[in-house]
Amino acid sequence: MNTPITKIIPLTLLFLASLLCAAGAGAEVLRLSEVPSHTLCCDAEYFIEGGAPLSLTEAMERQRAGGFKQELKGAPNFGIGSKPVWLHLAFDNDTHAEAERYFVGGVTWLDRMDVYLVRADGSQSAVHTGDELPDAPGLTPAMGYALLLQFSAGRNDLYLRVASTDPMAIPVELMTRQQFEQRHLQLGYFYGFFFGFLAALSAYNFLLVVGTRERSYLYYSLALSSILFCNFAYTGHGVAWLWPEHPGFQKFVILVSMVVYNVLGLMFAARFLALKKHSPRTLRGIRWIGTLAVVIMALALMVDSQFVAAMVAFVCTTAFTIGMFLLGILSVLRNQTSGRYFLFATFFGMLGVGVTALAVWGKIPFRPYTFHAAEFGLVIEATLLALGLSNWMRENRDALYEAEQVARLDALTHLNNRRAFMELALPYASTAGRHERPMSLVMMDIDHFKSINDQYGHQTGDLVLTAVADLLKNFSRTSDIVARWGGEEFILLLPETGLKQAINHAERLRQAIAEFRIPVGETSISLTASFGIAAHVANLSFDKMIEQADVQLYEAKRSGRNKVCCSSAV
Ligand code: GH3
Ligand code: MG
Ligand code: MG
Repeated sequence: MNTPITKIIPLTLLFLASLLCAAGAGAEVLRLSEVPSHTLCCDAEYFIEGGAPLSLTEAMERQRAGGFKQELKGAPNFGIGSKPVWLHLAFDNDTHAEAERYFVGGVTWLDRMDVYLVRADGSQSAVHTGDELPDAPGLTPAMGYALLLQFSAGRNDLYLRVASTDPMAIPVELMTRQQFEQRHLQLGYFYGFFFGFLAALSAYNFLLVVGTRERSYLYYSLALSSILFCNFAYTGHGVAWLWPEHPGFQKFVILVSMVVYNVLGLMFAARFLALKKHSPRTLRGIRWIGTLAVVIMALALMVDSQFVAAMVAFVCTTAFTIGMFLLGILSVLRNQTSGRYFLFATFFGMLGVGVTALAVWGKIPFRPYTFHAAEFGLVIEATLLALGLSNWMRENRDALYEAEQVARLDALTHLNNRRAFMELALPYASTAGRHERPMSLVMMDIDHFKSINDQYGHQTGDLVLTAVADLLKNFSRTSDIVARWGGEEFILLLPETGLKQAINHAERLRQAIAEFRIPVGETSISLTASFGIAAHVANLSFDKMIEQADVQLYEAKRSGRNKVCCSSAV
């Protein structure tokens, strides 16, 4: 947990520092030579267009008449479904010559942005862009709209008209060509790493599905791919590279992919946290809410309402993010190890998305590291979930192994059961057959056990069986295989033991049992047992050996019990 925390502390300090800077800013006319290399948040004036759209001239008149407000605290942000907004920034080109600067404005999902530069000599330039236009000019993935503007010497006024149904965040930056190229390169590396990391993790988990048929990997892989796609769409990579000529598609693709990744994320969470087992009601609730979100989104698409789609996408994301965190808390309270991974993972994911949301909202400074915090959070989240998933698989494997072990033991006496005995004994039997090694089988049955049950009760009968099993365990050598064959019948395989040795062994065991006293309340129970022995001879199958031992046991019973009988003369 060290790495994420060491990243968070400097990030937090950076926030605080930039908050202080933001509070101190606010100049009216910015000197072009001193334009800071971050968002010009507090220097802009704005005007919200109430009625009919204003022309540039009308907007300029209104600005000169003092109709623009200057109380922006963060990056200009007017939320979902806002009316069109005009921004104004004034620059003094103090370089005494014409100067070029990159204007980098907005986020790539803004529907429409008109950029006007009114120069000191009275000349004007205008660029119309936004993702509702095909091949939008200046669209730069992960940055916004980057336009190279020429500032004449003296005063230049920059006017911006933005209209958008999607969240209207309008960070504005002015950069030299060198600064722009540097930022562009940095972001290229950053997204190369980010998309590469998520794509590789997603592909790897998909291969794990193919190999293991485990559905959790599939859900994880799908959730990762959908997050990757959503990020690809909202950072503008999609519209810049894949569908620049389809603004109609761009209008909804981000919003739809947000709902898709939330639903897939919840499906993964449900599987990973085993909600079906631990909390079926929560699972049912999640299914309902997920279906509802998909249905409302489908309706929004049908009636072509970008506003409804945006509301669904953002309400959905907020609710699902909080929901995921609560699921994590619940599973930690239930003491699930996977819950701990999940909680930490969603915490970092939420922290990242929260920081980005606050930056876009304007509550904290809009900087590259605040705007891209969601991606940092996602990388940490995806890594922790991958670790959690592998841990979950290990726990499952251990549980399976334990269950298998339990299935081989007799529940009452904890001796091997019949199945385990056969599995353990067969290799010995085949070795004895092939290499003509001695091997013996002892079948033992407690005498008149039914009367113990009848006299003391079934529970005491169980106690006696356990005590006899313990005695057998203590009496046998490590190489012997002892098992409960059924009811009050036990079987012993004695490898490397000839008939004579086996008889001696059984005889000692018979005596030990006869002398054995099992304390029950005030008194104690004594008992005897009968034994049948079969020794391995050439061409005798293991099944036949068991049969012979059983016949000898019957013989011991018939001839008066508390006896050892064997298959052939010694
Ligand atoms: P014999 O000397 O001929 O073997 O007589 P027996 O009474 O020992 O044999 P019988 O097969 O007639 O009865 C076995 C009894 O063992 C009947 C059954 O209820 C009892 N028994 C089997 N499994 C258990 C068990 O797990 N616990 C208890 N308490 N009794 C068991
Ligand atoms: Mg018996
Ligand atoms: Mg019996």
